[in-house]
Formats: sequence, C-alpha cells, structure tokens
Amino acid sequence: MAADIIDGKAFALDLRGRIATLAADFTARTGRKAGLAVVLVGEDAASQVYVRSKGKATVEAGMASFEHRLPVDATQAELLALVEALNADPAVDGILVQLPLPTHLDEQTVIATISPDKDVDGFHVINAGRLAVGQPGYVPCTPLGCLMLLKDRLGSLSGLNAVVIGRSNIVGKPMAQLLLAESCTVTIAHSRTRDLAEVVRRADIVVAAVGRPEMVKGSWIKPGATVIDVGINRVAGTEPGKTRLVGDVDFAEASAIAGAITPVPGGVGPMTIAVLLRNALVAAFRNAGLDLADDAI
Ligand code: NDP
Repeated sequence: MAADIIDGKAFALDLRGRIATLAADFTARTGRKAGLAVVLVGEDAASQVYVRSKGKATVEAGMASFEHRLPVDATQAELLALVEALNADPAVDGILVQLPLPTHLDEQTVIATISPDKDVDGFHVINAGRLAVGQPGYVPCTPLGCLMLLKDRLGSLSGLNAVVIGRSNIVGKPMAQLLLAESCTVTIAHSRTRDLAEVVRRADIVVAAVGRPEMVKGSWIKPGATVIDVGINRVAGTEPGKTRLVGDVDFAEASAIAGAITPVPGGVGPMTIAVLLRNALVAAFRNAGLDLADDAI
C-alpha cells in the first residue's frame, strides 16, 4: 500500500497563520512588532534567495524584518560590530546570520557573538547545551520542523525506534536530541556507520539528513515506518539542461513501503522558514517578559 504523503507545505502554511495571529496579539500588547534581523554577507545567489524569502515571510506574519547586507570583503570586526549592535537593539528580537559566510570570516566566532536570547537559529553553544539538558532555549529550525511533522502524524513518539542519518550540528545532532526528549530510542548514523541498511531497517522513524541524492533505498525501510527526508539535492532532470530537486531518500521506492513520507520538495523545506518565524516570535514574547504557553505554536 502506498505511504501517506506528509504535506509540509500545508502544515507550514497553517503554522504561519497561527504565528500571524500571535504576532498581532504581541503588537497589541506591546505597541511594537516582533522583529527579526537577517544579516547577509556577500552576493551568494542561493543565500540571497533565502534571505529575500525569509524577509517576505516575516513581513507577511505581521513582524518587522530588518535586513542588513555587508559586502563580500567585509571584515570580521565589521560583522561582529553589526551583530553586537543588533544584540543591543530593543526592536530586534531575533538575529540570523545567513550561512555560509565568505571563507575569511570565522563562523563559530560570529555565532558565539549573537546573544543566546536572540539566537533564533539555535546554533549558539548555549542553546545547544540547553537542548542537551532539557532547558528552554532555541532549537535549530529544520529539526524542530521535522519534529512537528512527526508529532502531527504519530502523536506520542514514546518508545519508538528512531534512526537519524547525519550528525551535523544544524540537523542531525539536534534532531537526535529532540527525539530523545520525546522518549524515542535513538540511533545516530553517519558516514562511518556499518551496514546502514540494516540499522535503518530497525527504525519506526527515519530522518535522513545526509546530502546524498536518493541514497536511502526502499528495501532499507521497515514496512509502515515514518520517513522524514531533509535532503535537498539538485540533480539532472529528464530533459536536457533541466535540473530537479530530490531528497536523500529514493521516494519512488520508499513510498511503496513506508507508512508515511515527506516529499521533496514540499516536505521539510517549507517548515524551516515557518519555524524560524516561530522562534523569532517566541523570542519576542520572552524578551518582552510576556507569557507564551509552550504549546501555543
Ligand atoms: P552535512 O554535510 O553537514 O552533514 C551530512 C551528514 O551526513 C554527516 O554527518 C555525514 O557523516 C553524513 N553522511 C555523509 N555520507 C554518508 C553516508 N554515505 N552514509 C551515512 N551518512 C553519511 O549536511 P547538513 O546536515 O547540513 O544537511 C543534510 C542535508 O539536508 C543536505 O541535503 C542539506 O541540503 C539538507 N538541508 C535541508 C534543509 C531544509 O530546510 N530542508 C536545511 C538544512 C539542510 P560524517 O559526519 O561522518 O561526515
């Protein structure tokens, strides 16, 4: 039987609607809009597209978007000075520095300079530590979006076997922490994992965050498992000169065996920006000293 398709686009749209309602509530209570600042260094084409769509989505949610562009040859000192100015600006609740940075800049130092209370990407070591010990903080947007889709589909995740393929600080590690906090039995697989197919076969939940087109085969999937495909890979299309996006999972094969699966595109991708807005709004409520229920968004 074919798997159910987990519609990340529809879920993200609904989430953005709920965020807009709460953002209006925030404005009514404080007399100002929740504010998200995005910093872009250089002219990288993909980063420009991301920054534009983040700004547009922020405004659509009724929040203030502050876009800061620095030239590709900006110095580390200039970038850090901008981050510190944003840390001090009361109109800015969340700060996102678009990665990757040009190679002469030190990403770790830049991330460490962002105030942990405005770190809506959740990349600061303080927020990674808060996630590890179960304190409220900011969780990276992509894995939090994956968790929302999983809970929406499965309800309680307690006791399920989850395999996360990938151990990056941005996706794999925080995903594993989130699943552990939901009482899953978590395995983190990576490039040195032996017999990955056999490891994946034990999983009730598979999260693939590898960056290798269609690497996870249908024969690896336990019948009925829930498959979350984080991968975004551009490959040659069927027509000459055309490209198409595929995930890390062989969708055609896996969707014949899984119970539910996210498509690429239209699965995890739309969740990332929606969760960024969610994190920025949570930051606004917290920074203003206002209560927001844990499950409000
Ligand atoms: P990284 O390159 O940082 O990490 C990839 C991970 O995959 C590493 O831990 C690596 O292992 C592991 N890996 C590589 N090859 C294999 C293999 N053959 N078998 C098992 N594991 C392997 O990538 P990211 O975590 O940043 O991103 C992963 C994917 O998710 C990419 O396709 C990216 O484009 C996509 N992505 C999508 C987002 C979205 O919004 N939908 C957001 C962020 C990322 P090791 O550590 O041993 O090298």
